[in-house]
Formats: sequence, C-alpha cells, structure tokens
Amino acid sequence: MAPGQNAVEVPITGMDCPECTAHVQQAIAELPGVESVHVLLSSQKAIIRLDPGKVDLADIRRAVEAAGYAVGNPAAATSRLPPLAGSGRPILALFGVVFGAVLFIVVVGEWLGLLEALTERVPWPLGLAIVVVGGYPAFREVVRATWRRQVVSHTLMTVGALAALAVGQWATAAVVAFFMRVGDYAERFTAERARRAVQDLTRMAPQTARVERDGAEREVPVGQVQVGEVVVVRPGEKIPVDGEIVGGQATVDQAAITGESMPVEVGPGAQVFAATVARLGSLRVRTTHVGQDTTFGRVVKMVEEAEAHRANVQRIADRFSASYLPVVAGIAALTLVIRRDPLATAAVLVVACSCSFALATPIAMLASIGAGARRGLLIKGGKYLETLARADVLLVDKTGTLTLGRPEITDVIPLDGVSPDELLALAASAERYSEHPLAEAVRALARRHGLTAAEPEQFEAIPGRGIRARVSGSAVAVGNRRLIPAAASLAAADDLEGQGKTMLFVVRDGALVGVLAAADTLRPEVPAALARVRAQGVGHVELLTGDNELVASALAERLGVRHHANLLPEDKIAVVKGYQAVGHTVVMVGDGVNDAPALAQADVGIAMGVAGPDVAIEAAHVALLRDDWTLVPELFRIAHHTMGVVRLNIGFTAVYNLAGLSLAALGFLPPILAAAAQSLPDLGILANSSRLLRQSNVHGS
Ligand code: ADP
Ligand code: MG
Repeated sequence: MAPGQNAVEVPITGMDCPECTAHVQQAIAELPGVESVHVLLSSQKAIIRLDPGKVDLADIRRAVEAAGYAVGNPAAATSRLPPLAGSGRPILALFGVVFGAVLFIVVVGEWLGLLEALTERVPWPLGLAIVVVGGYPAFREVVRATWRRQVVSHTLMTVGALAALAVGQWATAAVVAFFMRVGDYAERFTAERARRAVQDLTRMAPQTARVERDGAEREVPVGQVQVGEVVVVRPGEKIPVDGEIVGGQATVDQAAITGESMPVEVGPGAQVFAATVARLGSLRVRTTHVGQDTTFGRVVKMVEEAEAHRANVQRIADRFSASYLPVVAGIAALTLVIRRDPLATAAVLVVACSCSFALATPIAMLASIGAGARRGLLIKGGKYLETLARADVLLVDKTGTLTLGRPEITDVIPLDGVSPDELLALAASAERYSEHPLAEAVRALARRHGLTAAEPEQFEAIPGRGIRARVSGSAVAVGNRRLIPAAASLAAADDLEGQGKTMLFVVRDGALVGVLAAADTLRPEVPAALARVRAQGVGHVELLTGDNELVASALAERLGVRHHANLLPEDKIAVVKGYQAVGHTVVMVGDGVNDAPALAQADVGIAMGVAGPDVAIEAAHVALLRDDWTLVPELFRIAHHTMGVVRLNIGFTAVYNLAGLSLAALGFLPPILAAAAQSLPDLGILANSSRLLRQSNVHGS
C-alpha cells in the first residue's frame, strides 16, 4: 500500500444481483482519491483502498446512494449478515410447483385459445392494473436504472411487456411480469444459498469469552478480550481466542480450522486456535490473538474476499452480458423492420433475458470456496479454481512438504582426532539459532546425548546452503557441498547419500571435522495423493529441493516423479518461470514460509500447514489448513467439478437463448410462451449449481 493510503470496509445494502455489484463498484471507483474497490455480493460490502485526504465516508455514501443503493452502519461492517430465512429444499420445491403450474396454464391456455378469450372478456384497464401490480418491483428497477442511463437485464423484458400491451395482449404482459418476479426470486434465492456456505463459517466463531480479571472469572464479549489476558475454557466450549495453554489439559477438536475431525491432545505450552472446541478437559489459555487477527478470523476474511478474485470465465460472461443486450435490441429492431411483426418483436425482447449469464459462475465459485473452507482448504478466489482445472505441471518442495519436515540425525561420522560427542556439541552450538528443521534435528540429538550446546558468539544463516557461526573463538560452518566445497569427495558421505540421506558437513577453522547424516520421513499419504493428482490430468510432477542430487533422485524414483536438486530458494522461482515461459500452467506446493516467493510466482501456489498465528497464509493462493496431502487431489477434484458445472451452466444458457431468439424472431414463439421459456435457464442453473452446494455438506466425499 502506498503511503497516505487506507483500506476501509463499507457495508452496502440493497444489492441482490451480480449486476448491482457492478453498479456500486463503478459508482465508487469514479470518486477521486479511490485507488481500488472490490464490491462483495456475498458479504454485502465494499473493500476500498483510498486516500483519506481526498475522499471520505460521506462522499462514498453519496456516490452509493446516487447509484440507487445505501451504505449501512459501519459498526456492522464485519462479517455479520442478516440470518437467512428458511431452509433451502422446501422453498426450491415450492418454486418448482408454482412455476410448473403457471407454465402449464400458459401453455394449455395458449393452445386452447383460452388466453385470447380471457383477454377479450376482461376490460383492459383491469389487465393493465394486473400487469403493473404484478411486475412493480422489476418495473421500478428498470425505471430507476433508465433514469441513471443504465441498462439492466429486465430492461428488455419491460420493453417486451410494453410491446405486448401496445398490441393489446395484456395477458402476455402479465405473464412477462410474473416471470420477471420468479426470475428475481430464483436468483436471490440461489445467491443466498451460496452465500450461506460462507456465512456458516462465520457463525462458527464464539461470541463470548470467560476472562480471568482481578482474580475472578467474567464473561465478556470476545471483542473485549485483551492480548495477554487469560481465558478459561470448559469442556464442550469453543475456544474464543488464539493463544497458548497455561493450565489444564484437553482434547481439542480443530475441525473448524483444519477440517480434521480427529481431536488432538493438548497441554500447557501448546497453541490453540479460536473456534476450535475443547472436549474432555478444561483449559486456561493466554491470549495471543483476538477477533480478526486469529487464524480463524483471517480464514473467514479471506473466504469473504475470495469473491474479489473473479475467474476469467466470469469476466467473459460479464462482458458477454454487456454486449448481449445491444445485440438483442438489434435483432428485435430487424424483426420489426423486416418482418413487420410486432408480436415476434415482443417475443424476441422477452425471451432474451440474460440473467442466467450473470448468475452462472459466481454461484458455482462461491459454493465451492465455501465447501473447501469447511474441509481445511482455503481457496482465495474463483480464478484459482479455474487455473487448477487446466494446470498441467505440479512442482513440489521436498523438505517439510513431501516429508514430515522433522528429520532425524542417523549417523555421526567424526574425522581424525575428533570425538563423536565433540562433533555433535560443536554442530549443536553452531546451529543453536537456526530455524531449519535440520538444525532442530542436530539439537535434539545433542540433548539426547546430554551435551550442552555453548552459546555461539556469532551466527549467520545462508539460505539453501547452511549456517556459519563463531563458537568458542573458532569459525564453524555446517551445511551442504555448496557451502563447503572442500567436502567434495568423501567416501563415507557418498555412501550415505546413496541411501537418500542429507549430509551436514561440519567445518572448524577451515578444516573438515566430520559429517552428520539426516533422514526425513516421507508423509505416508503422499504416493497415493500424487497418483490421484496425475489421474486428474496433471501430467508432469516434479520434486524441487535444495538438497543434493542423490537424496533427490532416491526420493523421486520412489515416487515415480522427476526431480530438480541443489536449488536455492531463488532457483525455485526460476524453475517455475521456466515452465510458464513455454506455456505450462504451474501449480506449486510448498511450505508457506520458505517457499513464499516461488508460491507467489506459480499460477497457483499451495501452502502446506498454515494453521498457526504467525505464518503467512497471505503468501499463497490456496492454503491447506492441515498438513495432509489428501487435500491436494481433493482441491483438483473440486476445481474440475466446479468448472464442469460452470461450463454446463454457460453452454446451456447460450444454446437455449440462441434457440429461443431464433424461434422468436421467426415468429414461431408467441410472446407469452417466450416469457415462460426465458426463466427456465435460471431454474436450470439453480439446480445445477445446487450440486456444488450439496457437496459442501458431505465431509470429504
Ligand atoms: P528444501 O528445498 O529441501 O526445503 P532448503 O532450501 O531449506 O531445502 O535447504 C537446502 C539445503 O541446505 C538442505 O538440504 C541442507 O543441505 C542445507 N541447509 C539449509 N539450512 C541448513 C542448516 N541450518 N544446517 C545445515 N544445513 C542446512
Ligand atoms: Mg522446504
């Protein structure tokens, strides 16, 4: 963010269609001082980056109101949304019945000529009244939009209804009005169901916390808990904050964050996360993060904002909708001029409603993102689902990603004159301040041997190579061959490397004093997961590692994948770029912190194991909230499934509208049937996208 800039969230009310978000977006974007704006339909708000010196809330309010919407109360700008009415299924069924009944009456009535008879009997002012009352909300929207020189999807249908009235067919106009309303309801209902997938998530957050203050326990709203305060959690309760256990023991169900339903045992010193549930035991937790800063809070925020990362197909659909209306108006004009048939013209206008186009993609994307979040898969935008569905290269980091990242030292080989314990103590001192898993392995073995590691006087980490330190006056280096070229040939080391072990060469004052060998365990679910990813069309899987050739090839061979060894962190970026340069779509899986730049460079970067307060969920496009490789093929499956649904939605709508337009223009489709026919795709899309919503309720199907 540039200096002098601010991000604010403004709640917007009155938006109930994808078109509305575009209007609000445009109105706000036009204000001077607004850098960027994302309007989110699902959480009914706008996220605005602005220069507070040039624009304020009053300006935004005015712009939003001029566009026909309203700004809500900023205090409610968080994720609180009004609860949704009713449960989905009965409403859907009711829709179907009413829709079917009216369709039946219209078709049969038209066929038997009953509607014409009716039209003749009923005086036209009464007919006009029925039309106006029936279609009032839609007509009002069109009039308002026209006043602001906007064209909305109902504009054409309204013109069609007027045309029908002009030729004396008020029954047709009434049917048009009726289906405009049905279409509105269907659209709103589907959007709400998709939205609910996100909302269910926010509702998992606890509202109150029991805090220890002045020696007593007090129940306060979660927002009032301060960092550093101790909260008390009883069995069966949700943990209200992120924090560290300072007393008690419990099994904690972390499904809210990780999607994993197996509870974990925790005790003093362990980290716990907000929205997880303590079972079998009470806990005292010292607060480290509250509210939006908790892991859960950040997950919810990102799922909400996912809508802003719109998929390409969605943008194409939007653009199509925009150019579709003039085309339809053109066809209608031609029909009128060439065929001189006002009824056919009315039918063209009425059949062409493009609502379904706007509906097709966002609904499906939102549903899948919500479904993913519930399983521990944080997908930051529909655009990544789209990319995943066509990805053909998968790059995986080794240490900490394919392996458990908890290597153990298996061999200690001192060289002339040095004792094994002396070597180990020296390495442990030098590694004392390294955060690398290999360093932890060295320290762990030293501890087990009862050795005390001296405090190093100096320490320097060299990424992808090792470390340098000054211990008891000596210059010490621990690392691989890149760091210590003198270690080039050493028979014992070559042998161990052949077994796939990682060598840590130890140098003191320029002389090699020994080697430590470390082995890391492959995560057990990896081979099956990679096989499933390959079966989903990702032809090229490659291991990327900073480790040496022998280790890399041993593991790669076992997994049946390619490999690329001896890479520095920046080399990994180059590998990603290399594949992209020749036209591949690259997915990379890595650990969030180490591999952040390469993850960001990939078309889709997937970060492993990011549940925790201080790790960078931000670095990746998809985050796995639990260290579980089965989530990777699951992610690809969701992506393919979603894009399948989207393609079907769009294809169906396109073919249907084309057929409808042709029939109407040629005079084969009476306006009254056109009105009924146009709302069918909406219901089709509703039903089709509901499949994705349904999958969100099944755990890991
Ligand atoms: P990866 O790509 O497998 O995750 P890294 O880039 O983290 O590996 O490290 C690459 C290599 O650098 C390691 O295999 C190891 O040989 C060496 N290395 C890195 N840090 C250390 C350390 N603290 N001590 C010893 N060796 C290290
Ligand atoms: Mg790594």
